[in-house]
Amino acid sequence: MQELVIASNNQGKIREIKSMIDGLSLLSLKDIGFDQEIPEPFHTFEENALTKAQTIYQCCEKNVFADDSGICANVLNGEPGVFSARFAGLPSDDEKNLQKLLAELNDKDDRSAYYKAVICLIWNGEPYFFEGVCNGTIIEEKRGNGGFGYDPVFVPDGYDQTFAELPLDIKNTISHRGKAVRAMVAFLKEQLQ
Ligand code: IMP
Repeated sequence: MQELVIASNNQGKIREIKSMIDGLSLLSLKDIGFDQEIPEPFHTFEENALTKAQTIYQCCEKNVFADDSGICANVLNGEPGVFSARFAGLPSDDEKNLQKLLAELNDKDDRSAYYKAVICLIWNGEPYFFEGVCNGTIIEEKRGNGGFGYDPVFVPDGYDQTFAELPLDIKNTISHRGKAVRAMVAFLKEQLQ
């Protein structure tokens, strides 16, 4: 079976991605013995995803994909965006990040936001990009125990429940990452034919 490395240490992301891909042997960074922090110094999801994927490719020369994702509040001009994982500073803390976002939106009428994910796949040495967006609203108080990150306060458009309340299969159907992963899987199916 073809191997594909997921260039992430985020267990929430890895769990979601693994549930969406079959027919490939998925390796985590732990599986390939990579234990360093991968830098994300750029201001676009694309550049960060490319750098992460290239860092791992140069290390193991295996097919690899990295995703860079985040939540973007419209009234905050897209913040926290690429800084979602460290919105409240380092070390990264999901609860502190979420509370900071709630504080920043406290006096705002427009609570619309979107999650965005960009995947960079390095396949046979060439980079390919896949993107997904999920629009929704940031509610004022946390609801639900599933998901990760900002999920307890994000209600996707067309639903009443937060991403932390919705079952994982529904989140995967509509989420930014689900859309980007499905686009990549469609590409991989063509490659593997
Ligand atoms: P990355 O590892 O740099 O891509 O950081 C992504 C960060 O964005 C995560 O640590 C979360 O804070 C946030 N994020 C991205 N996707 C999701 C999601 O599906 N649910 C909740 N938070 C997310």
